[in-house]
Amino acid sequence: MRALINRFNSACHPFPGIHVLGVSASALFITALLNWPNALEAKDSASKWIPIPNPFAGKSSLPHSLEEPAFIVKKDTVKSGDSLSRLFQRQGLSPQLLTKVTSSESRNNAISRLSAGKNVEFRYLSDSLREVAVIQSPFSETVAVNRNNEWAIEQRHREPEIYIEYAKARIDSSLFLAGARAGLPDNLIMELASIYGHVIDFVYEIRRGDTFYVTFEKRYLDGQFIEYGDILAAQFVNKGEVFSAIRYPGPSGDAGYYDEEGVSLRKAFLRAPLNFNRISSNFKLVRKHPVLGKMRAHKGTDYAASRGTPVYASGDGKIIYRARKGGFGNLVVIRHGNNIETRYAHLSKFGRYRLNSKVQQGQTIGYVGTTGLSTGPHLHYEFIINGVHRNPRTIIEKLPKAKSLPKTELARFQKFAEPLIASLEVLNSNAELAYQNISK
Ligand SMILES: [Zn+2]
Repeated sequence: MRALINRFNSACHPFPGIHVLGVSASALFITALLNWPNALEAKDSASKWIPIPNPFAGKSSLPHSLEEPAFIVKKDTVKSGDSLSRLFQRQGLSPQLLTKVTSSESRNNAISRLSAGKNVEFRYLSDSLREVAVIQSPFSETVAVNRNNEWAIEQRHREPEIYIEYAKARIDSSLFLAGARAGLPDNLIMELASIYGHVIDFVYEIRRGDTFYVTFEKRYLDGQFIEYGDILAAQFVNKGEVFSAIRYPGPSGDAGYYDEEGVSLRKAFLRAPLNFNRISSNFKLVRKHPVLGKMRAHKGTDYAASRGTPVYASGDGKIIYRARKGGFGNLVVIRHGNNIETRYAHLSKFGRYRLNSKVQQGQTIGYVGTTGLSTGPHLHYEFIINGVHRNPRTIIEKLPKAKSLPKTELARFQKFAEPLIASLEVLNSNAELAYQNISK
């Protein structure tokens, strides 16, 4: 812990630095890959880890001075209902001291805004309190500092050491199992599913033999793994079709995922309008559209999911129906632009959005249930254009294209994306060779 404190820069390093680091590191990663043919040989669908040490790591940290004081640190954790004054009481510190500390607060620099679960450190020099730190994350803390009896509040940040790693997996039974075999944590798989959530229906379109390749960050402090970072690039091969995703900080600075052409992967409609996380536990490859009960003239897609699974508005629109309706049970109908309507049936209950309210893509409009003519909990989803039912799984390609990067940005994007895609393709073709070798 002491090393950690010492290595906090006394100057404030804003976070965007990390991304610059990530970019330089990915260029290195690619160079390393291209010069590293042996590393590319895939023996099976499990991943090959290629950790690339970040040469910039540590350089941004100031060398810590020899006179740096040796604090005695007392730790506490914020419990629900706790306030800074309670924490001070538990430390046996006076209310007068608390007042001194909090009077140095400003709108952006406050230490008394605590949330349950946060760790707080009281740092002493002999008996005198010198610092109170609210640990925001392994990379940042808000600290009240006592300098010559004047308290000031500052934000301290640490640059993580970023390693770029690569994994690939071939799906045999489920996306999550494949990911787990490749050593990827569930949240990274979830992230991948959400990146592709507008272009691939992870319930109905995943096939045995589908593969994915992904490069992502792992963040370390002092050589210790802290957390997974962003997915930098990925390719998902679904039924032979390759979908690329490149993380790119657009003109506004908000990073998004784009294909090779600079077209956003965020489309106007979600492919499967429900919380994939919730159905992931029993998620299996579905070869055929399951028949849940014998409904005549079945004009929608059924997603089996446990009761209570959140159902999302698949696109921006307005709720034009929100009530019971015969065999549909609890039904929500959303009207979107371009004469498109979506329907969500058999809901156990409705979300908080009322009739006639506007909803945005991904907002919860209801929960999976089995109301109406239904034999088990599932979402019945319909997609209607100009009053005609369409298959949501095939219609999305026919809808207007999603936003592309502006022309002015495209050249910069391609320069950025090209080496990332090239590296994934090298890995991809090498993997295929390896698979062929195995099958021989
Ligand atoms: Zn149905």
